[in-house]
Amino acid sequence: MDIHLDTLLNFPDVTVESCTQEVGNVFLKLHFLKDSSVCPHCNQLSDNLHQTRSTLLRDLSIFGQATYLKVPRRQFYCQQCKTHFTEVLSFMESGRQYTRRYEEYIYQQVQLSTIQQVSRVEELTFDRVEGIFNHQYQLKKKTRGAASNGSGLTKSVNGKDISSLPPLSATLKLGNSLK
Ligand SMILES: [Zn+2]
Repeated sequence: MDIHLDTLLNFPDVTVESCTQEVGNVFLKLHFLKDSSVCPHCNQLSDNLHQTRSTLLRDLSIFGQATYLKVPRRQFYCQQCKTHFTEVLSFMESGRQYTRRYEEYIYQQVQLSTIQQVSRVEELTFDRVEGIFNHQYQLKKKTRGAASNGSGLTKSVNGKDISSLPPLSATLKLGNSLK
């Protein structure tokens, strides 16, 4: 819809269909530019759309306003596997209610302050912030275990290095490297 919003959103093959504002919250309705998706089991491309549900994800705030994405969750049928699969999206982890970059951001903010403080600023409950933090911590523990040769990403997610980085640019860097 709007080329500038699409560029700011920065997700591959995704366009912003509409943008609405309600009491300090921003809602972006997303639309996928491709009519097909790759089966996660056999890597075969399928354009046999079975059904589409919609899910609401929290993303990084825009100009200080809490931002939510209305994301179509498409289910395709794979001819080869003879089964349905839900589209795998690079910007969200299946089953989560936040974008990957938002979870990264919360994880870093908690390290820089406290769960209580992040909960207040982001208007999320304590349990939600704690849940995101623990989830990210487990993910990073796994990633760190897998990468034995000390890559750049491993170093930047290490708690010791993160305190010397400005939080916003660190978030951007990590967000990009996850694609
Ligand atoms: Zn398949």
